[in-house]
Amino acid sequence: MNAQSPEPSENASAAEEWLYEVRRKIYSRSVTGWFNNWRVFMVLFTQVVFYGLPWLRWDGRQAVLLDLATRKFYFFGMILWPQDVIFLALLLIISAYGLFLFTAIAGRLFCGYACPQTVYTEIFMWIERRVEGDRLARIRLDGSDWNARKIAIKTTKHALWIALSLWTGFTFVGYFTPIVSLAGEVLSLTLGPWQTFWVLFYGFATYGNAGFMREQVCKYMCPYARFQSVMIDKDTLIVTYDGQRGEPRGRRSKNADPRAEGKGDCVDCSICVQVCPTGIDIRDGLQYMCIGCGACVDACDQVMDKMSYPRGLIRYSSENAIRNHWGKREQWAHLLRPRILIYLGLLVVMVGLFVGGLAMRDALKMNVMRDRNVLSREIPGGLMENVYQLQLMNTTEAPRRVRIEATGLPGLAVHDAQAVVVPPSTNILQPIELTVPVDNVRKGIYKIEIKAVAEGGRPLSASSRTTFIVP
Ligand code: SF4
Ligand code: SF4
Repeated sequence: MNAQSPEPSENASAAEEWLYEVRRKIYSRSVTGWFNNWRVFMVLFTQVVFYGLPWLRWDGRQAVLLDLATRKFYFFGMILWPQDVIFLALLLIISAYGLFLFTAIAGRLFCGYACPQTVYTEIFMWIERRVEGDRLARIRLDGSDWNARKIAIKTTKHALWIALSLWTGFTFVGYFTPIVSLAGEVLSLTLGPWQTFWVLFYGFATYGNAGFMREQVCKYMCPYARFQSVMIDKDTLIVTYDGQRGEPRGRRSKNADPRAEGKGDCVDCSICVQVCPTGIDIRDGLQYMCIGCGACVDACDQVMDKMSYPRGLIRYSSENAIRNHWGKREQWAHLLRPRILIYLGLLVVMVGLFVGGLAMRDALKMNVMRDRNVLSREIPGGLMENVYQLQLMNTTEAPRRVRIEATGLPGLAVHDAQAVVVPPSTNILQPIELTVPVDNVRKGIYKIEIKAVAEGGRPLSASSRTTFIVP
C-alpha cells in the first residue's frame, strides 16, 4: 500500500460521507406571525377532524367506518360496497388533480399546512418547546452532560410523544374497527393481535417520523418533493427571497442608510434559517426541500419591522413577479394561465362525475345467475320452468320488501311469487323459478328481463337481462 494512501477505515468513512450527507440536528426557533397562525389553525383543524371523526355517531352507528371485515365503508348516511370501488378511484383522481392544481397555483401549500408529516412534526415540536424550551435552551440541553434534570426533561418529552403516538395509532385503527368497542378492548386488555399490531405500528411510525426523522422525510423520502418541479412554473406563487432588494446582504446599525453603505435590505441575521423546519437558507434560491410553510416569511417580516424597512423581503411571489417587479394585480392576472385552466376543468369534470355518480347510485342492486343444476324442465300444469339464483343487495339502512317480476315471454311468471325481505345493508341469495305455459313457446333460447321492485318507501328497482331456455 502506498504510504500516502489513507487507512481502510478512513476510506470507509470518506465513502460514507460522500454517499450520505451527515445529518445535523435542526433546532428550529419558534416564530409568530400570519403564516404561523394559519399553520396552527390547520394543525388544530386537521387534528380535531382526525381524532374526533371516529367518535361521531350517525343513525346509531359510527359515522365514518371503513369496515374491512364486512367490506362496507360507511360515510355518514352513505354505505359504499366493494362494487362502488370506482368512487374510491374517482376520489383519488380528484385528490391528485386537486394537488396538481394547488401546486401549480401556490407551490407546496399542502406540505406546509396539511401534510400529516408537517402537522405531526409541528405538534411534536410544540411539545418539545414546552418541555425543553426554545432553540437556545434545547441546544444547551443537548450539549450538557447527563444529569437528573436532563433525564427528567427527556423522559417527560418522550413519554408525551409516546402517549400521543399511541393515541394516534389507536385513532387510526378506530377508522377500521368500531372505535367504541376498540376502546373497551383496550381498557379491558383484550385487544386482538391485529389491532394491537396496527396501533403499535402506526404509533411507532408517528413517533419515529415526527419525533426523529422530521425534515428527513420531506428531503429524502417524499416523492412529491421530487416531482413538484414539473408542476410549478415561473408564475407559481412560492416562498421567495427578493435577491434584487436584499443583496448585497450585510450587518449594519439600525439607523444606518443601507444604500449609502452599498447594502441591500437583508441584514444577514440568519433568523430565516433558524426558524426553517427543514434547515435551509431560502436566500440560496428555490430548493426542493422547501415545504412552503412561510415561517421564514413571518420571521423576516419581524426583522424588517424592527429595521423600519418595508415587509416582504421574503414573500409569497412568483419568479416572474420578482424579476419583472410585478405588483399584486399583475401577479393575480397571471394566475389563470392555460395549465391552471386545464387542471381546473379536469377537476370540475371529476367532481361532477363523482357527485353525479353518487347521487344516481342504485340503492337496490341485483345479479341474476342461472341455476347450473336445473337449467330447464317441464313441471305439472303444462308449464316449462327455468331456475335462477338472484343476488339482491339492499344498500340502504332500512329493510326493504322486494317483489320479483319477469317479462319477455307471453305468460312468463314467477312461480309461487312471494315478496322477499332484504335486511338493511345486506345482500342475500334468493332462488326463483320462472314458468311459461308450454303451449306458448317453442324450442329455443329467449331473452327475458327480471326485475326487483321494492314495495313501499322510496321507489327502488333493479333489473337484469338473462335467458329462458326451452329444450
Ligand atoms: S430574516 Fe430576512 S434579513 Fe434576516 S437573514 Fe433572513 S432574509 Fe436576511
Ligand atoms: S425556506 Fe421558509 S418556507 Fe421553506 S421550509 Fe424553510 S421556513 Fe418554510
